Parts: sequence; C-alpha cells; structure tokens
Amino acid sequence: NYRCRSAFKLLEIDDKYGILQPGDTVLECGAAPGSWTQVAVERTNANGKQERAPQGAVFSIDLLHFHAVPGATIFGGMDFTTSLAQKRLREAVQHRKVNCVLSDMAPNATGVRMLDQESITNLCYEVLRFALAMSAPQAHLVVKVWDNGDVPKLERDMLRFYEKVKRVKPRASRGDSAEHFLVARNFKGATDS
Ligand code: SAM
Repeated sequence: NYRCRSAFKLLEIDDKYGILQPGDTVLECGAAPGSWTQVAVERTNANGKQERAPQGAVFSIDLLHFHAVPGATIFGGMDFTTSLAQKRLREAVQHRKVNCVLSDMAPNATGVRMLDQESITNLCYEVLRFALAMSAPQAHLVVKVWDNGDVPKLERDMLRFYEKVKRVKPRASRGDSAEHFLVARNFKGATDS
C-alpha cells in the first residue's frame, strides 16, 4: 500500500532501468509523503525483509514533516538546498558511498511559468552537485524536470559525469503534462572529462 500514486512513477523507472538493487544506499530529496521512500526501501531491502539479500539504506529529506517509513532514515522539515541539511545528510550517510540519488522535488509554483521553471532547474543542479560529491562509481541519479528550454543544457551537464542520460516520461505521470524525469546512469566520477 503506497502513500500516493507517485510510487508508480519510480516503480516504472526502476523496472525499466534497474537503478535500485538490494544492498544499495539511496539518497532521496523531496520525499514527502513518502511513497518513493517506500519503493526505495523495498527495492534496496533497507528493511531487511528479504533475508538472503544484502540490506540497503535509504535517507530521505523534505521541507515537510512526514510519517516514518520503516527501514528509512527521514529528515522532515528541512530544506535540501541549505548547507545545514546537506551536512546532516552527509553525517547520516557516513562512510557509505551512495548508489542512487533520487529527486522528485518540485518548487511551490508561483504560476509564473518562467520563474517556476528556473527554480526547478536550480533544484536539479543542487541535487546534481550533491550527487557528484556523494556517489559511488557507477551510481545513478534521477531528477524531476518540467519540460523547458533549460533541460537540454542540464542533460548535457549530466552527461559529463554519467555514461547515459535518458529523458523519461513514465505512464503514471501522464496526468502532469510538463513533468519528465532525467535518468542518469553509471556515474563516471566527478572529474570533468
Ligand atoms: N516522491 C514523493 C512521494 O512519492 O511521496 C512526492 C514528492 S512531491 C511531488 C515534491 C516534494 O518536494 C514536496 O513534498 C516538497 O515539500 C518537496 N520539496 C520542494 N522543495 C524542497 C526543498 N528545497 N527541500 C526539500 N524538499 C523540497
């Protein structure tokens, strides 16, 4: 039982690209009310339910407070873009190398298309920067974007650090016409090449 329908977007992305494996460490931004967290916990075995598989770890953050998800470490009431929030996440993750970074973050829409698009792109760059600092080799990254003129540049910037970047529109996201996800796979390392 998922907390909201968004769960099916991540299930669809993971079924297609296999970005979440048992034993993985996952960082998740914009997690409330927690349905992606539920999916990430199941697929990484962060709750230890699959006895014979390695146990993963999931760290989830949101501006809003939300209910605990067994197996996940949750940071509610925190703005991911602040240095305090990022310090907390780094401390929680400790020595682990992150295998997958997920962001379903969306800014509060002002209704002014240009401003809203700029703020979601800024959120994506903030997540990309953090992912570069935290990720293990071959890690993956998923960010939500709204279709706009900045997306091709973001895609190109991601391609400098990941072997493959795909623009994905899950069936479950049909209702929201502008919404897409960039799925970046196989982190090459943070040194620009
Ligand atoms: N993936 C979630 C799920 O399946 O339950 C739904 C996420 S919802 C579409 C987007 C979330 O991004 C909102 O809960 C919002 O509070 C959060 N958000 C937006 N800006 C944020 C920021 N700067 N830091 C943390 N969370 C943020």
